[in-house]
Amino acid sequence: MDIELVIFDMDGVLFQGDNFWLDLHREYGTDEEGVKLANSYLNSDYVMLAELVIERLWKGRPASVFERLVESRRYNPGVQEVFEFLHRRGLRSAIVSTGPYQLAERAQSELGIDEIRGNRLIIESGMISQVEIMVRETHKAEVGRRIMSSQAVDPARTAFVGDSYGDVALAELVGLPVAYNSKSAELNDVCKYTLRNGEFAMLIGILENEMRSGPGNSRVRSRTTD
Ligand SMILES: [Mg+2]
Repeated sequence: MDIELVIFDMDGVLFQGDNFWLDLHREYGTDEEGVKLANSYLNSDYVMLAELVIERLWKGRPASVFERLVESRRYNPGVQEVFEFLHRRGLRSAIVSTGPYQLAERAQSELGIDEIRGNRLIIESGMISQVEIMVRETHKAEVGRRIMSSQAVDPARTAFVGDSYGDVALAELVGLPVAYNSKSAELNDVCKYTLRNGEFAMLIGILENEMRSGPGNSRVRSRTTD
């Protein structure tokens, strides 16, 4: 199986921490209201959720808190090695995340990532002012499909690494879906490989193995762990 592009979720996959926005709520002391809004709108109206969070909870708060959180986020062990491998083998990469675009930009410049999609907090005069939504919780597959098409890579030649229920549809779309430290049984079920926490660098062996094997082998739906 030829793999030309690897798409990554961001929170919990490239970076430690499952949910950047929840951590930002905690920093601002708005987590109780934030969780209530998420429970109401996360899967029904993501744009409404983002707008309500900004208007009711975050507008006018100091952006320095957000910027510090972006800077302090740590990569999962093995992430740098995986990107060295991708560059060595000439594979392209992308991020599709509902997390902050600014964190994806940091990863893009530090790791060398071809395309990034995320949700941008707009800052004016040092304060949070608005949000620009590029990726809705329920539309990651659609965003991934557009990246594959702009990179002119067939979904069959694309790998995706995710860790949560919101990643299921995109995992179903690609030829090589991988779950990393997954919290979702549904995601594990649709992934060809499931890696545990701390096993991120094993992605290198998976990609090498898949790229060595012929197209017939790509239909074998085995898993490394259960
Ligand atoms: Mg995630």
